[in-house]
Amino acid sequence: MQEATIGIIGGTGLGDALLSNITDAQTVTMDTPFGKPSAPLVTGRLGERSVVFLNRHGKGHKLNPSCVPYAANIFAMKKLGVHSLLASGAVGSLREQIEPGHLVVVDQFIDKTYRRLGSFFDELGAVHCEFDQPCCSRLRRAILRSAECTRAVTHETGTYVCMEGPLFSTRAESLLHRQWGADLIGMTALPEAKLARQAQMCYALIALVSDFDCWKEHPKGRDKHDLLQEILGNLNQATANAIELIAAVLRGREPLLDEECSCRKSLELAVWTDPKAIPFVKKKKLGVLFT
Ligand SMILES: [Zn+2]
Repeated sequence: MQEATIGIIGGTGLGDALLSNITDAQTVTMDTPFGKPSAPLVTGRLGERSVVFLNRHGKGHKLNPSCVPYAANIFAMKKLGVHSLLASGAVGSLREQIEPGHLVVVDQFIDKTYRRLGSFFDELGAVHCEFDQPCCSRLRRAILRSAECTRAVTHETGTYVCMEGPLFSTRAESLLHRQWGADLIGMTALPEAKLARQAQMCYALIALVSDFDCWKEHPKGRDKHDLLQEILGNLNQATANAIELIAAVLRGREPLLDEECSCRKSLELAVWTDPKAIPFVKKKKLGVLFT
């Protein structure tokens, strides 16, 4: 059986650090029907595994969350043969017990984004994928088993609210998100996870906790420069933890791809438009998503 190539999308903090661990690295510059990805993709090996790495925010962190070309990123990964995708991203915690420096293997999302392309299929027709379980349960299990051998505190579940940004929440919003039952706030997981599902990929997200968002008041009299340094320090710690976890996942013996996984068949019953009404040329353009 051919070895599966695992895609890795590195969010804030993770990009450069992980990139330096890739061996046999080759840079692939691509274009897609949805424009250019955030950066050239890097193919190579991490330990025993064949990987494709992409820095979500581009070199120098130049793309803010609203400007990340999510559709191009997922399309490019799929074109390079990625069917199983590990993503990471920085988040704020909405829960006392989820502390800065911890990791969370996200299982649910609430989508508050409003100016991002969320589907590949606008030109093709009505395509409705199941999304009740937005992250691959099989891939999540593999990550959680690997987490048992790492030092970081890793939470098994977490509901992630994805906001448009780039400003952070108001205090009223942060308190509302807690009332909704959300555990984490971030700006990048969506529509990325939705597009991965529409590309028939298994997708899992490791969230790196940098701070407590603004529902929790800072101690009185703290200097704001000190606070920023503290947040960056937390993010560095969470990044080191995430790199250790991703390395453990890739080193582990768990299969990271199973062609029988339901994520790999997400388009089977999803196309509601009459096939005769879909122009061949449009279907051909998006053909790789159906593989
Ligand atoms: Zn899956």
